[in-house]
Amino acid sequence: MDSTSNIQPDPVDNPCITCGACCAFYRASFYWAETDAGSGTVPAALTEKLNDFRAVMLGSHPPKPRCIALLGTVGQSVGCSIYELRSSVCREFAVSWENGVHNPRCDAARIAWGLVPLPKPDHSNPNGAPDKGDSPMPHAA
Ligand code: SF4
Ligand code: SF4
Repeated sequence: MDSTSNIQPDPVDNPCITCGACCAFYRASFYWAETDAGSGTVPAALTEKLNDFRAVMLGSHPPKPRCIALLGTVGQSVGCSIYELRSSVCREFAVSWENGVHNPRCDAARIAWGLVPLPKPDHSNPNGAPDKGDSPMPHAA
């Protein structure tokens, strides 16, 4: 992506379960063989050909991208219907401040949806922003 999100089944600290902005802002494209038409896991039926090398999640094309696998309402409650099967681009998209690393693309997606960027964690505050090893987006409910 282009881009999108990951997932971490931690409903308490995971800001992605009330966001989903990146899944409705960026194009989610990846090497076509990541689909189950190749040697991968992403359901090919939920993708289309982008070019000779890459596939793209249906719905995630501009100008109004929203991945077909995104469930729920952006900014309220969301999930990825193919969480376990999602592509590398989704797995690798980091929620901002994951492991202390700022992700301006997370910020940009949230701002586009009228959400404030996630704050930098205050490590003096144990209830501050998350610092996870895996990523956002929840499983489908
Ligand atoms: S496959 Fe899942 S994580 Fe990837 S863009 Fe779609 S909804 Fe988001
Ligand atoms: S917080 Fe960032 S990584 Fe998580 S869903 Fe929202 S835009 Fe995507």
